[in-house]
Amino acid sequence: MKATHHLCHIPPVVFPLLVSVTLIAALPLPVAQAEPQQPFAVSHLGPHLRSAAASQLFAHTAARPPQNLTERLAPGRDSIIKGYSPTWEGALARELLAVDLRHDIIRGAVAEYQSDLMALVKLQAGDKHDGTFNAGALQDDAVTALSVAFDLAPRVQSVDVWAVVPGDETREYAHVPVFSVSVQRADFVQAMAEPRKATHILGRLGLVRFSPNYLRYAGGRYGAGHLLGLPVSTYDAPPASDDWEDHVAEAYERLSNAEPGHVNILEPLRGPHGLAALTIDDGPHPLTTPLMLAVLQDHGVHATFFLVAEKAEEYPELVRRIARAGHEIANHSYSNRRANELRDAELLAEVSACHDVVGRITGMATEYFRPPGGRVTEGGLRAVGTSEHTMVMWTNNADDWLKPKPKVIAANALEGLGPGAIILMHQGSMESFRALPLIIEGAGAAGVQLGTVSDLVAVGGAATRDMSIEDALVYLHQRGYKCDE
Ligand SMILES: [Zn+2]
Repeated sequence: MKATHHLCHIPPVVFPLLVSVTLIAALPLPVAQAEPQQPFAVSHLGPHLRSAAASQLFAHTAARPPQNLTERLAPGRDSIIKGYSPTWEGALARELLAVDLRHDIIRGAVAEYQSDLMALVKLQAGDKHDGTFNAGALQDDAVTALSVAFDLAPRVQSVDVWAVVPGDETREYAHVPVFSVSVQRADFVQAMAEPRKATHILGRLGLVRFSPNYLRYAGGRYGAGHLLGLPVSTYDAPPASDDWEDHVAEAYERLSNAEPGHVNILEPLRGPHGLAALTIDDGPHPLTTPLMLAVLQDHGVHATFFLVAEKAEEYPELVRRIARAGHEIANHSYSNRRANELRDAELLAEVSACHDVVGRITGMATEYFRPPGGRVTEGGLRAVGTSEHTMVMWTNNADDWLKPKPKVIAANALEGLGPGAIILMHQGSMESFRALPLIIEGAGAAGVQLGTVSDLVAVGGAATRDMSIEDALVYLHQRGYKCDE
């Protein structure tokens, strides 16, 4: 099962760690070792967090009870897996354990789409108390994890590795992403062709995102003030959340100087154009985005991705991949918080921050905005109007956030589907990914072609209406959207 061909080109002097990977791979794996190894997944995090994690995983795979999501590796050492493809996930767990990474692995997942496999490895970096970690060791482990995942099988076509440091101790799930990398097999093989250190390999991949938090917590052999060996292509803009109050103050200023009372709303129009829009909210997501991109590519369909900028900051390469594949990128706010939970200036700051983040990553401006949770308020409409985005709601709600079976999601999306419809679905769950081909095929069977929101506008299947805030509230209320005071 192991194919270590590209690892073998690396001379021991230059990159001893990977050679040890190769050696371990070449020998039969020891079944029982005297030396206790790091436990895989979350089993070392204590019973409370462990059951929380299991139920979180359960939420991802409603069809499987949580006890089926653990993989027995050795006495006393269970891994918790996603349950997407348990056999591959178990294999990934075993191989990662065998190479003895210096960091704990808190998540491993492998998903299958047609003949391709896509893997995800999440590493826990950072001291429990102050979050500091050794930059060199983390980069070594990231490259090793990539190697191990790609070596599982030639069918593994894309691998995501990300690392977090512990966040606020009072919040059980708080963690601070410091590093992520999303790699396609061909790029990895090319980057590994020349023997170099991990930092050079990552630099050659050019797909790495070191967050500003990385600089904050990293130490070790690269030393501070040295950019820590970061590649030139690094996306190193600070997260908008770092100086959030400044963003809000700026938005407050803009709102007080704005012409009051107008907002653009996209009105869907029936007609002979034969097109409906496919919109996917809440990404990017390290596993489901690549999977959904593969489905869309196979079917020759373009969609509009309403992205959450906070996640775009964590996975900028996935945002570039969405754009490169010809899909439309739209605005779903910075943090996915609902309008009814926010001050007006905060909502404007959310829309502006998302616009800026997407612009910095892709060079493109967002034109369309969908309010998180579909929630609308009078002040929120004024904020959206001031942001100069056109608000896009939906006509066909897949209701996939409840994670019903893919068949049910597709049936929801397809109910009454006709030209001018706007389908709303989400990314983040495997159910949504599995429903996507059913939706595309079902639309085709109903004689409806799917495209982006801009495609729909271009063929006359939707038009932007400039409305007063009062009219907009009536318009939205009449169509059943949730309007709060
Ligand atoms: Zn959302």
